[in-house]
Amino acid sequence: MQPEINGSPVVEYGAQAMRLMSENQIEPTPNAYSVWYSYASSQNKELLDQINQRFTDEKPFDSPFMYEMASLLALPQSDLANSTLEAGEQLSDKMDNILELMSSVTGDTSQFGKSMEGVSAALTSEISAADLGQVVDTIVAATKQMEARSRQLEDKLIESKSEVEELRTNLVAARSEAMTDQLTGIPNRKAFDEVLLSEIATVSQNSSPLCLVMGDIDHFKKFNDTFGHQAGDQVLRLVGRCLSSNIKGQDTPARYGGEEFVMVLPNTILEDAVTVANHIRKVIQSRELIKKSTGQNLGKVTMSLGVSQFQLGDTPQSLIERADTALYAAKDQGRNRVIASGEAEQAAAG
Ligand code: GH3
Ligand code: MG
Ligand code: MG
Repeated sequence: MQPEINGSPVVEYGAQAMRLMSENQIEPTPNAYSVWYSYASSQNKELLDQINQRFTDEKPFDSPFMYEMASLLALPQSDLANSTLEAGEQLSDKMDNILELMSSVTGDTSQFGKSMEGVSAALTSEISAADLGQVVDTIVAATKQMEARSRQLEDKLIESKSEVEELRTNLVAARSEAMTDQLTGIPNRKAFDEVLLSEIATVSQNSSPLCLVMGDIDHFKKFNDTFGHQAGDQVLRLVGRCLSSNIKGQDTPARYGGEEFVMVLPNTILEDAVTVANHIRKVIQSRELIKKSTGQNLGKVTMSLGVSQFQLGDTPQSLIERADTALYAAKDQGRNRVIASGEAEQAAAG
């Protein structure tokens, strides 16, 4: 059966010639390539007719027949030379593109580059069909090599991708660890500083209310001295849990230092922040503490809290200072209570 030859661009003739040689088990010599290139491009009518007849007769494309066909070509034919030159230029461009792509990805194309250098030069000058056959062999070999390399490259990329993903996961975990207080599991001072700074930046733009609550455990030194540091740590964990389980989504609790805790409450006015602080104060004072190791009842702890609301021109420091002043007013007035910033100033003035 005769193979189908579609009207194709010049590069395609070369590919068809290669395919035809492979399908018909013809040794891919430069001469054979020239013959099949001519057949694919239908340039030589006699050659075309004879080969088609050979297909119809189902006779082999043996050496004597191929020799006969090559002699029909009277190489180099000017048309063929032109079209091979054109094909060569296109191939040369393609190779350059691939080379560029490969080198941009790997920075290492030495092998392929060396093989192709000569090919590029040969293709852009006048070339005989016989030489073109060798050139094609070189391209095929080098392309196979490149395919192997690009598979390697792909494997490497996949490997790097998973390494990068693992790194990213580790980085996220490390960052989260760096932002978490190890004892209580709630955000630490560093996380609080970041959150407060970013919330202040937000409210400075959109004028929504923002409050800060600072709490300090009452007579904690006495508790530690009486029951030991481990029992003290148990109290700190309890307070951390009370804070995080009694505030809503956008609120941030944090351990500010030793036995001092803070809460950043966006979109909250002073009055509501006082309500939240009082609720937490009540939850804490309602808890009986039982020493885990002995089952001993350690009684209850209480907390004093101060609340401040963001005012235009506030810095994190000034907002913290007002909450702290309010907190110490709460201590002054007998502990286990919540004082709002304005009240604290009134108390100080009065
Ligand atoms: P006040 O009601 O005035 O706050 O009295 P206080 O005893 O709580 O205040 P003070 O600042 O005098 O003492 C704080 C104590 O908190 C000191 C230390 O024993 C204890 N403390 C601070 N950090 C930790 C900690 O990480 N673990 C434990 N177990 N205790 C801590
Ligand atoms: Mg303290
Ligand atoms: Mg204290």
